[in-house]
Amino acid sequence: MNATSNIITLPGDGIGPEIMDAAKRLIGELGGIDWHDHDIGGVAIDNHGTALPDTTLEAAKTSDAVLLSAVGGPKWDSTNPDDPRPEQGLLGIRKELDLFANLRPVKPVPALYGSSPLREERITGTDLLVIRELTGGIYFGEKKRENGVASDVCSYSEVEIERIARVAFKSARAKVTSVDKANVLESSRLWREVVTRVHADEFADIPLDHLLVDNAAMQLVAAPSEFDVILTENMFGDILSDEAAMITGSIGMLPSASLGGDGPGLFEPVHGSAPDIAGSGKANPLAMFLSVAMMLRHGLGREADAARVESAVDSVLAGGLRTADLGGDAGTAEVVDAVIAAL
Ligand code: NAD
Repeated sequence: MNATSNIITLPGDGIGPEIMDAAKRLIGELGGIDWHDHDIGGVAIDNHGTALPDTTLEAAKTSDAVLLSAVGGPKWDSTNPDDPRPEQGLLGIRKELDLFANLRPVKPVPALYGSSPLREERITGTDLLVIRELTGGIYFGEKKRENGVASDVCSYSEVEIERIARVAFKSARAKVTSVDKANVLESSRLWREVVTRVHADEFADIPLDHLLVDNAAMQLVAAPSEFDVILTENMFGDILSDEAAMITGSIGMLPSASLGGDGPGLFEPVHGSAPDIAGSGKANPLAMFLSVAMMLRHGLGREADAARVESAVDSVLAGGLRTADLGGDAGTAEVVDAVIAAL
């Protein structure tokens, strides 16, 4: 067993505290992890007047990993641009921790093949990871509007491309597919050049191919099982990771990780705070459990425990237990008990 890790837990809003309680039961069972709760999002606005209090940020910076549920809800929806908004907490912590790599695994569980909008034979064997650059590109470039003309600048530096490429090659098991639009965009030509160089210099033993983003969008639904790691820039990754997520058919099942340079990573389910079911005991805790698995793997160096959690989740689903979002009638507590028993 490694030395005890210190993580901060951010329960947030809506079903956030319910699924964080579930995560704490799981973490307690695994052992070796101390956690401390901090406020973020709507609850932080209520308690501190800001969605990302300094105390939360400082605790995050000195932690080994950050585990987040979800933020937001109708209580904090406002049309006044000066009002604080829950998602400022999320964007703020990603930026402050310099989390430039967003990882979203897509691995449909055989027991849930029927929930996918794609035919079973198309998705069988799919086990891919989208690695999206998160802090550069067109979302962060200069934005202008003048005389009826608007523009958004898409810029990338070699350093930004090198560091995300390394994350992709280190995560690959079979190959890396780098996605760009090098036939028309200069930033994509630099992207392709730098990815090719990092590959040749440091990871030549891992197969690398390049795909134009329009073709990648087609291949993702035509033959998703052909992919291993998809490496791409911010906006292409935003779109392709949502497309890939739909292969699994359920938002309540998808985890994510955001990693930075040397500091802690942030691990969270892809879904939001689900205010419509908050407090009803119906939330599916599995995306959160799979986020804990990602934290064990990418944040705490505990691969064997990550795999244990994932296979416990698989076996519970194979046994037929389902929360309402998956068409069943099990509650959160029942699913948590079953996963912990399977562990
Ligand atoms: P949502 O993901 O919260 O919910 C969409 C639908 O999926 C709802 O019907 C919900 O009940 C269901 N759902 C989501 N997670 C579930 C789970 N674990 N178990 C069972 N059902 C689940 O998205 P939304 O409704 O668009 O947004 C609600 C709030 O969440 C908004 O305030 C939004 O801004 C916020 N949000 C936060 C994040 C985040 O914190 N990362 C992400 C997306 C949305």
